[in-house]
Amino acid sequence: MYASSVGLPKIEELHGLRVTPGDPLCTIEEFMPGEGVYVDDLGVIRAARVGIVELDMASRRIRVRSVVQRPRLPSKGEQVYAILTSVPREDLALFRIFADERGITYSGSFSGILHVSQASDSMIKSIYDAVKPGDIVRATVLSSSAPYMLSIKKPQDGVVLASCSICSAPLYKVPGRNVLVCLKCGNEEKRKVSPNYILVHREKGK
Ligand SMILES: [Zn+2]
Repeated sequence: MYASSVGLPKIEELHGLRVTPGDPLCTIEEFMPGEGVYVDDLGVIRAARVGIVELDMASRRIRVRSVVQRPRLPSKGEQVYAILTSVPREDLALFRIFADERGITYSGSFSGILHVSQASDSMIKSIYDAVKPGDIVRATVLSSSAPYMLSIKKPQDGVVLASCSICSAPLYKVPGRNVLVCLKCGNEEKRKVSPNYILVHREKGK
């Protein structure tokens, strides 16, 4: 029989099957071709697009519903990773959000805004007391559409990677100290540091 020679899926396995263009589905004796399929010279119905097979038993039609993946977006309450792009005012920093809380990058990037009132768990007047341009932060998203309002107030949130304002070498967190240290030039800088800060320098003898 022809069907077995081309390896057609079993009828009971067709519904919900994920297919790509050209995949054989069934014969025209079994189902009528609907949307997203085509019939080849031998009377085999094949998928014409990437999608999921749907069977309509009443009309005995087979179709392939396209699955367009919705782009992932930051959502309210979620943690994201963002890089500080500019500080237009002393009380405001602009970010480019690039990854979700698992560190998986978005296909695009999204604007984020951090106000000084959301930049620290203590009262600070200037945003520079918490973050500086080029810093990468782990932040909580406060709003549901772009530009996303961000907060780094939570204990887990804050700067996860920063570089020295003087020599641009990466800054290190030193356990027990509340400043970040440049191992190259000795500069010390203040940030709202996340406990997940990437670079940690353990001083000898400790
Ligand atoms: Zn330095």
